[in-house]
Amino acid sequence: MNKRYHVVIVGAGVAGLAVAALLAQCKQREQLKLTVIDADARVVRRASDDVALRVSAIATGSAELLQDIGAWLAVIATRACAYDSMRVWDESSTDDSGDALRFDAADFAVSQLGFIVENDLLVDAILGVVERQDVDLLFSAPIVSLETARNTHQVVLQDGRKIEADLIIGADGAHSLVRECAGIESREWEYEQVAFVSHLRPEKSHANIARQRFLATGPLGMLPLVDGRISVVWSTTAEQAQWAMSATDEELGSALGNASDHVLGRLSAAGPRGAFPLRSRHVKDYVKAGIALVGDAAHAVHPLAGQGANLGLQDAVSLADVINTALQHGEYPGDRPVLRRYERARKGANATMLHFMTGLNRLFATDSALLKELRTTGMWLFNHSGPIREHVVKVALGTRR
Ligand SMILES: Cc1cc2nc3c(=O)[nH]c(=O)nc-3n(C[C@H](O)[C@H](O)[C@H](O)COP(=O)(O)OP(=O)(O)OC[C@H]3O[C@@H](n4cnc5c(N)ncnc54)[C@H](O)[C@@H]3O)c2cc1C
Repeated sequence: MNKRYHVVIVGAGVAGLAVAALLAQCKQREQLKLTVIDADARVVRRASDDVALRVSAIATGSAELLQDIGAWLAVIATRACAYDSMRVWDESSTDDSGDALRFDAADFAVSQLGFIVENDLLVDAILGVVERQDVDLLFSAPIVSLETARNTHQVVLQDGRKIEADLIIGADGAHSLVRECAGIESREWEYEQVAFVSHLRPEKSHANIARQRFLATGPLGMLPLVDGRISVVWSTTAEQAQWAMSATDEELGSALGNASDHVLGRLSAAGPRGAFPLRSRHVKDYVKAGIALVGDAAHAVHPLAGQGANLGLQDAVSLADVINTALQHGEYPGDRPVLRRYERARKGANATMLHFMTGLNRLFATDSALLKELRTTGMWLFNHSGPIREHVVKVALGTRR
């Protein structure tokens, strides 16, 4: 006989696990039989492991959410690097010039702007919470299709098992099979950039500052790590990223030193390398009857502002809240009108961030003298405009309190 649940979450990434943790702890949780299914084996991160390649800038608001669901202690007990300042500048200027953007935690009365955390550590910590709840977890179990009949939906696993649910949450990332099987269309556009990612050891201290230098080929992000290294996210041409993957340590250190304008002195290659093609995506519908998409399954943004995982966490809060409220009012959480409340809450906010990041990337990746002038003037104005600065920082901090 097929197994039956109220909610099946496909994907144990940050977004899917956050929904699971929130639903498992919500007021109406006795009414919910939950399961999370993931294609991969369970992620485990230990303090003795080297810092993993994939890290994310987690905004203060997201850290507060993780604290509320009980996962943050495990993150900071392992490692997370707080950053209390951010510098953004254009290749035609310097990080300490008047037209560089500067954000300092002290200016906004917060103790830090955010934390650099390994993706796998976040996943491991939220899993720790979910495992203490009454939630069934299924690893190494890729789903291969989705079947729908009236009010019941089922996911089909690779081994042939079928799992029924009132609501299937697609949290299965950028190449979401739930999205595909549900026939949900998305608008996609290529950035024509590949993000080369690695850890490097800088000659000078990173001083807990997150830095971003805009080059004509794309932005170069330098995120501070607890062990003094920096995580470099170099959004550049496919050719340059491919070159970086196979360059010697000396060649890589020298190229990135030049690309960073030596703001941290010499850079020495000191970690694994990876390359991620960048494309933007936004689905036309977040929901259908019995189906909802969260996180990268619904949207993909340029990593230049470090918002992808943060947006996924905000989706999770919104969807869990809609489901909990529906149950409180005796409504059926798989109904489209119920799920549309979630779509209305998140689609506009995510679209704004997506278009802002795409526009910013284009504005900086241009050779036009007029646009160059406009962006330096714009950055200067931004630095000197209290309300606009405050608004942008509030969005970036993602604070809920
Ligand atoms: C270079 C780079 C830098 C970034 N930096 C930042 C940053 O600084 N800050 C930030 O907030 N974001 C950042 N992001 C974005 C962030 O990494 C993603 O937005 C986030 O990890 C997406 O989480 P998710 O849970 O939606 O999806 P994923 O993390 O992709 O999780 C999807 C899960 O679904 C599972 N799955 C997939 N298919 C199936 C299937 N068929 N059956 C079962 N399970 C399946 C997968 O195994 C996986 O566990 C960055 C992205 C890139 C590329």
